[in-house]
Amino acid sequence: MAIGQSSSPDQSAVENLVIVGSGPAGYTAAIYAARANLHPLLITGFERGGIPGGQLMTTTHVENFPGFPDGVLGPDLMDLMKAQAKRWGTHLLEVDADAIDLSERPFRVEADGQSIQTHALVIATGASANRLRLPSEDQFWSLGISACAICDGATPQFRNEELAVVGGGDSACEEAVYLTKYGSHVHLIVRSDKLRASAAMADRVLANPSITVHWTSEIVDVQGKAWLESLELRNRTSDKRDILPVKGLFYAIGHTPNTELLQGQLELDAKGYLLTEPGRPETTTEGVFAAGDVADFEWRQGITAAGSGCKAALAAERWLSHHNLAQRIQRDSVEPDKAEVPKNVETTTEETYRPNAPWQRGSYALRRLYHDSSKPLLVIYTSPTCGPCHVLKPQLQRVINELNGDAQAVVIDIEADQEIAEQAGVNGTPTVQLFHHKEMVQQWRGVKQRSVFKAAIEALMVPA
Ligand SMILES: Cc1cc2nc3c(=O)[nH]c(=O)nc-3n(C[C@H](O)[C@H](O)[C@H](O)COP(=O)(O)OP(=O)(O)OC[C@H]3O[C@@H](n4cnc5c(N)ncnc54)[C@H](O)[C@@H]3O)c2cc1C
Repeated sequence: MAIGQSSSPDQSAVENLVIVGSGPAGYTAAIYAARANLHPLLITGFERGGIPGGQLMTTTHVENFPGFPDGVLGPDLMDLMKAQAKRWGTHLLEVDADAIDLSERPFRVEADGQSIQTHALVIATGASANRLRLPSEDQFWSLGISACAICDGATPQFRNEELAVVGGGDSACEEAVYLTKYGSHVHLIVRSDKLRASAAMADRVLANPSITVHWTSEIVDVQGKAWLESLELRNRTSDKRDILPVKGLFYAIGHTPNTELLQGQLELDAKGYLLTEPGRPETTTEGVFAAGDVADFEWRQGITAAGSGCKAALAAERWLSHHNLAQRIQRDSVEPDKAEVPKNVETTTEETYRPNAPWQRGSYALRRLYHDSSKPLLVIYTSPTCGPCHVLKPQLQRVINELNGDAQAVVIDIEADQEIAEQAGVNGTPTVQLFHHKEMVQQWRGVKQRSVFKAAIEALMVPA
């Protein structure tokens, strides 16, 4: 099949290669497989193991990915990888894989009610950093709370400020020592009365005058305004409470690999990571390859994930060819069209405002539509560094397009329009508010399925 001849591949056919996961590992595997004319299907994930684009969608500046001398925002980097994978003919399914069955060949993946058959699989489902689930955690995530000191430690807001690390293992100790380079003092919060780290690592922490260990302690909650300002600590033995004035809180309480769909089917290590041949992408089942953090408890970086995605795709291609299973596509032209990278629409002004435009941006459009429009109005609060906003906006654009002008949307950047966001009581992004006849009907925080928004809007359109 030539690219561009059919927009929806025949679902009864067996895929060459299904890639599960859309972090750096999944997209890199897709780029290589697509360039090998394998027309891979990539199941991006949606909620189960993190949002499409993976962990880098949840961070701001990535300063260590080669090729970006001035750094790049995590969500922008993932948008570029996605565009590159699509440009070469990767077919994306923006849902979670709900089940994977390796008991028969071709393998079977259940996703969004579809049963997909495939000869080969790349598992790139990543690992999720464990969270404490503090009451105010979501509010300060990436605004003082981070799951990666190595990645985020050098952020200007942390310089010469008091910082905290929670955890008692090797990672926590390493991160505490690392952060003394940046912070004025580091508090290490440990649940028990001893460190689980290696003796050498524990000694380094205990000998460091810039680190205070808070034994048998747990965090009750965090406080602040726009950025984290303090945390409340409880001693688990005495119940004594303290406030620590910290501007950064780093979680080092482990990661959980997203392998629950593979339990009992592939060999996992004691922590649930996929086992592969050392340094190689092959798992314990032929034709199934692992890439990225899902098989890497040690390095867990964007570049290592991308590198292993490349290996997994090359190995899958060799395996498919060796077994004569590869059905390669014919390209219409050697050079595909230019990649489509998402662009922000211009802020609407008095001159550019259109009362019936389906999608506008900024406070001017909001004020006008709030008063003048009789249609359901979605107000989408975003910020430039918000990864989940990158996921949500195209989904909402599709909803608005599908409603053929019966609903309208306005995007508000909370950094540019702080006053509006404050008035609307918005303290995190993405937040979506649905208005009808000047009344707020519903509000959502975080990424939700398209169908949720569509159903809520359609309910308002039902004639009385
Ligand atoms: C806050 C933070 C900051 C970081 N900063 C940096 C940095 O500056 N530089 C750096 O190099 N690294 C950084 N890292 C580490 C880096 O993000 C990871 O190492 C990298 O993203 C791993 O890539 P991956 O593709 O293996 O997995 P992930 O990025 O975790 O992606 C996994 C993908 O699998 C999908 N998925 C999961 N389950 C399913 C399912 N059932 N069905 C379908 N899809 C599924 C998810 O939706 C996601 O798309 C940071 C990590 C965090 C948490």
